[in-house]
Parts: sequence; structure tokens; C-alpha cells
Amino acid sequence: MITRDLVESLERMELGPDDRAAAGPWRCWRLSRDDEGIAWLIADRADASVNTLDEAAFEELDAALAQVEHDAPKGLVLRSAKPAGFIAGADVREFAGVRDEAAVAERIGRARAVVDRLARLVTPTVAVIHGHALGGGLELALACDRRIVAGEASLGFPEIRLGLHPGLGGVARTLALVDPLEAMRMMLTGKPLRAEKARALGLVDAVTQERHVRRAVRAVVAGDLREHRPGLRSRLQEGVLGSAAARKLAADRMRAEADKEAPHEHYPAPYALIELWERHGDLKALAEAEGASFARLLVSDTAQNLIRVFLLHEKLKHLARAGGQARPLRHVHVVGAGAMGGDIAAWCAWQGLKTTLTDPQPKAIAGAVRRAAELYPKLGHDSAKTRDALDRLIPDLKGIGAAHADLVIEAAPEKPELKREIYAALESRLQPHAILATNTSSIPLETLREGLRRPERLVGAHFFNPVSRMELVELVGHGGGDAEALAVARAFLAVIDRLPAPVASAPGFLVNRALTPYLLEAMVLMGEGAAKETIDAAAERFGMPMGPVALADQVGLDICIDVADSLKRRLDRPLPEIPESLRTLVREGAAGRKAGRGLYVWKGGEPVKAKGAPAPTAEMADRLILPIIDACLECLRKGVADDEDVVDAAMIFGAGFAPFRGGPLHYARAAGAEELRRRMEALAEREGERFRPDPGWSRLA
Ligand code: NAD
Repeated sequence: MITRDLVESLERMELGPDDRAAAGPWRCWRLSRDDEGIAWLIADRADASVNTLDEAAFEELDAALAQVEHDAPKGLVLRSAKPAGFIAGADVREFAGVRDEAAVAERIGRARAVVDRLARLVTPTVAVIHGHALGGGLELALACDRRIVAGEASLGFPEIRLGLHPGLGGVARTLALVDPLEAMRMMLTGKPLRAEKARALGLVDAVTQERHVRRAVRAVVAGDLREHRPGLRSRLQEGVLGSAAARKLAADRMRAEADKEAPHEHYPAPYALIELWERHGDLKALAEAEGASFARLLVSDTAQNLIRVFLLHEKLKHLARAGGQARPLRHVHVVGAGAMGGDIAAWCAWQGLKTTLTDPQPKAIAGAVRRAAELYPKLGHDSAKTRDALDRLIPDLKGIGAAHADLVIEAAPEKPELKREIYAALESRLQPHAILATNTSSIPLETLREGLRRPERLVGAHFFNPVSRMELVELVGHGGGDAEALAVARAFLAVIDRLPAPVASAPGFLVNRALTPYLLEAMVLMGEGAAKETIDAAAERFGMPMGPVALADQVGLDICIDVADSLKRRLDRPLPEIPESLRTLVREGAAGRKAGRGLYVWKGGEPVKAKGAPAPTAEMADRLILPIIDACLECLRKGVADDEDVVDAAMIFGAGFAPFRGGPLHYARAAGAEELRRRMEALAEREGERFRPDPGWSRLA
């Protein structure tokens, strides 16, 4: 929350006309001196709402620091003029496509020299932080003598999520300030710290209110604000971990932890970071080594693919915002309070929309509200936010909300006649501007729009389960659809912080179309006698977060069968048979995770896996993964989606496709599309026509 004090204070940083000349000719920084002789170096990137660091920003900073060295002010304050926060880190776009390790090492060396110049200033320096101080931004703050948080802040090193670690001396500086185990945890998880926690660990020296910032700055300049050192325990820890043997022991433990999350061959960054720390007891030597390690990581396939994933995420976010929003969206009405409708409504309310939720079954509505009350505290620790969201989630047995809503989302059972009946009863009550979105996962919109007086206002908004964790929503257009309705739906997804993937109305749309052959092939393999643990391991080794057998259980075997049945009827190419044993399981109530048992028995939300299953073969992985790529190519060829990036993004954010591979199509190109296509041909000869490559492979040639 931005306080008025902060806004006023940021406004005061607007320099008067006379000061502008002294402010320097830079695009990212302004330098001025106040009447107490203290210099203020303000991060304020032109034409941007957040500060990021690129090469130009470091060059300008270097020039500004030269000016400070020359002027020798009493003190130097580093802060940001952006209400959004301090500095959000590197401009990630600069990292994309970089493959020359030596050139990266040189660039990192230049940037680090600027950070070190800041650290070496004789003038006392203080970073005043509000909002985000991330990555390179935090590294700059750490190079100051003191750090003060004004109000609230979020400090962290998200580099690990891009397959990197800090590289400007930030690893060494964090280890110098913070209990080494906490420092490593912070960098290995990439999770940001709130201000008070950062102070408790010694990462910042004081947390104060905006109105006390000047006083705190004066105290730093006068030498009265001492460095905040964490407690005795962490100093002892530091002492113990000074020995190489103790560090080795702790490092082994960290590697074992990291291995549970991400294997070394897929995600090298955590292991590189652990090794840096283990090898260099001397922090000076560590600071020298971290840049080279960063450069090595940055040019790796993993980092480049994770950077691609970051940029794909930005692209879909941008898609959601593109075109703006003519009319503010305030009220959403959700019809059907089952697994999906209930969770969609809960999510909309959490994101600030007034949400009415209707269902003929009062029990379903009550269940949805109960699930929301359980979910909200997990999404954020702010009890006032939970209370407000629950206030916005309104049970609406009679469906009165429909007449007032800007958007109605239908999430009733997957039956065309039932859905059409619901629309018939609803349509006359909708506001003229309201749009109608269906969460159908398999019914063509052309079928659903029959009978609508204004079919152009119908769109598909296909959410994934669980709604709060799966960011993707397939946004489905149809021949008689209205561009305006799709634009409103996109704007709605921007408001509720979900990512739109525009797709055409086609069997299974994109994600289910591509996932179904993968799930069914796993069933075929089981039918051939392969252990389910082996099949799952084949996919996990490729990098999928969960194997297909566990995923089928997680989605629900009943739902998998419904989707597969519908696809089998409507696709003009063969899919594996749905085994009778799967239908029997569902009939017996073993529908997967939600029932506590399915193909696996589930305990504590996890499948119970037998130990000692045979290792998977390379062919097994091919039989699972190649059909996903093939279906994506078929979808592009048939115009279900028209952008390779959107297809890759949809498979990553909607189906968890191994992120470090950069998406199925990106992977296929990188692995050699011709070779993969040949392997599919060979599978088609051995296993049957379901592996015959789609003509769409030609686009990868
Ligand atoms: P569900 O059976 O859990 O919930 C459906 C709800 O609709 C029930 O509470 C039911 O009482 C209610 N309902 C029945 N008749 C109604 C009527 N006339 N008016 C209003 N509500 C009525 O089903 P679900 O899994 O939430 O699926 C709902 C829709 O979402 C389906 O179209 C499905 O294909 C789609 N979907 C499901 C998933 C999933 O993983 N479950 C994922 C994406 C999309």
C-alpha cells in the first residue's frame, strides 16, 4: 500500500527548474544536492513505471558516481522516484539470446566495477528502499553503507527462477551481512523478504516511516545509525561455517534439498550457487568468482529457456492488457458452484471483483464459500484482505446477480442442452453490455450459441484446475463471435491476473487436445505391463513436474475419460483406446486424487509410489512427449492457435510443460525437429497410426 507520505515525498523529489541542470543528462538517474549538503541520487527511468537496470543504466550510474566523487557531498542517498518501488532488477530482455560467455563475463565485470565504485565511496551512503528491491536493485542497495526501508518493502533475489544467481558481488555481500544459511536459503528459493524479516536478518539496518526518512538519513551521515547486526546465534553460525568441513556438510544438505525440487541436469543454478559458497570461505574470492559463474549460467540452455518463459509470461500479460478496457469491470456473476465455478468465483472475489455465485444446490454454494475461506489465508497473510474478499463473494441462490453483472461465467455440468437452457433463462436478464463466458472444456461454441439472441456476446473462458494456481485461461472465439466481447474477456483476465491464450473453438481447444494423447499413451503403456512409477519417471526425467499417471489422477479420472471420449468422437485422427479398467475404476468410486484413490492411492495430497520400479526407456519418453509436440503442430496447422509462442506459453502455464525446455515447439526446434519427426515415423511403424506425424511438422523444418 502506498502511503500519502510516500507520494508527497516522491513528489518533492521532482527537481525545480534550476536544479535540472545539476540533475545530469541521464535517462535513468537524477542527481541533486539538498540544502544540508547531502546528495540524492534518484532512480527514475524515463518512460517506464518501474526502474530496471540495463547496460545504459550502469554507464549513467558510473558517471553519476564520478560526479559524487568529485563533489564530495556529506552523504549520498540512493532511492527511487517510482511509487512502484526501488529497483526491480535487471532488464531481462537484455539477457535473451545471449550465447557468448566471454562477452557476458566482460559486461558483468563492467557492471560490477560500477557497484564496487559505489561501495568504495568515502562519502557515507544509504539506500532508502520502498516497494520492490530485487536482483541487481538489491545488489546496489547492498553496496551502500546502510539500508533503510521506508514503509513496506519486498527484498529478494529472484534470479534463481531464471536459472541464474546474483552476479554483481551480491552473493558475497549477502553472505557478509546475513547468517549464511539464511542468505543461501533466500538466494536458493528466490522468495522475497518483507521489511521486518529483512531487518531481523541484518539485510537492512532500519525500518521506518516515510516521514522519518530525512532524520534517518541525517543519522547515517552523522555516523549515528549503526549497522544492524543479527543476533548471537547467527554470528555463531557464521563462525562455525567459516570452516571448509562444516560448509561441505551444509552444502551437501542444500544439494539434497535442491535435488528434490529440481535435478542438477535440468536446473544447474542452485548447484552453482551452492558450489560458490562451499568453495569460497573468503568472501573477496567469492565476489571475484560469482560473475564468471553467472556468465556460465546465463549462456546455458536452461537459463535461456527460463528467460524465454519469463518473456512469454510478459507477452500473454500484455495480450490481456492490449486494447484497454472501455468500461470498468466491477461485477462478475458465476453460474454453477461446483469444482470450477466455485473456485473461479473465489478467485474473482480475491482479485477485487464483486462476485455473485449461483447454483440450484445450496450445498454447492456453501461448499464453494468454505473452500474460499480455506484458500484465502494461503494466498496472503493479511486477514483484512481475506475478510474483504469473503465480503465480495456473495451467495446468490436466486441468481439475482445476473441482471447486474458486467460478465457472466457459466460453469455448469458439461451438457450442451443444460447449458443452452441456462442461457435461455439468463439472456433476457443480462445488461446490454454484459458478456457471457462459458467454461466448457469440450463443447463447441457453435453448439452452445444456438438459440442465443445475441450469439456474438458468447465467448469461451476455459480455466484450469486449480484456478488459483494455474495462470492460463484459454480464450475461445468462434465464427459468430464479437471482437468486442473477446476484448472485454481479455481485460477481465487482466483484472483477475490470469493469462489469456487465444484459441479457436475446436475439439479440446489447445491444451486438452495436446495433453490427452499423452495421458492416454500412459494408459496404453500400463496395459502393456509397465509400472506406473516407471511411466511417471519417464516424463519427470524429461522435466514434467508430474508424470501422466499421477496427472490423470490429479485431474480426475472421470474428467479425463469425458474429455478423451469427446475428443475421440470429434478428432479426425486416431487416439489411443481408453482402457475399460479405467472406466471400472471410476464406476467403483476411485476417480483419482479427489477420491483418495485412482490409479494411485493418495495420502496427504501425494500419490503413494512403490519403490524399486524399473528405470524408464528413452522410447517410453518419446511415446509420451512426441504426441504432445505433434498435437501442438496440428493445432497450429488447423488454426486452433496462430502463434507458436502462445502455444508454448499455453502448454507451460496451462499444463506445466517442462519450463526449462522453453515449450514443446521451442524444444522440438532445439532438439532437431527432423530427428524427432523420424522417431515418430518409426513409432508409427511399430506402434500404429496414432504416431503418424502431422503434416504440421513441416513448419519446423
Ligand atoms: P461440477 O459438477 O463440479 O459442478 C457443476 C455445478 O453446476 C454443480 O454444483 C451443479 O449443482 C451446478 N448446476 C447443475 N445444474 C445447474 C443449473 N441449471 N444452473 C446452475 N448450476 C447448475 O463440474 P465442474 O468440474 O465444476 O465443471 C463445470 C464446467 O467446467 C464444465 O463445463 C467442465 O467441462 C468445465 N471444466 C472443468 C474442469 C475440471 O477440471 N473440473 C476444468 C476446466 C473446465
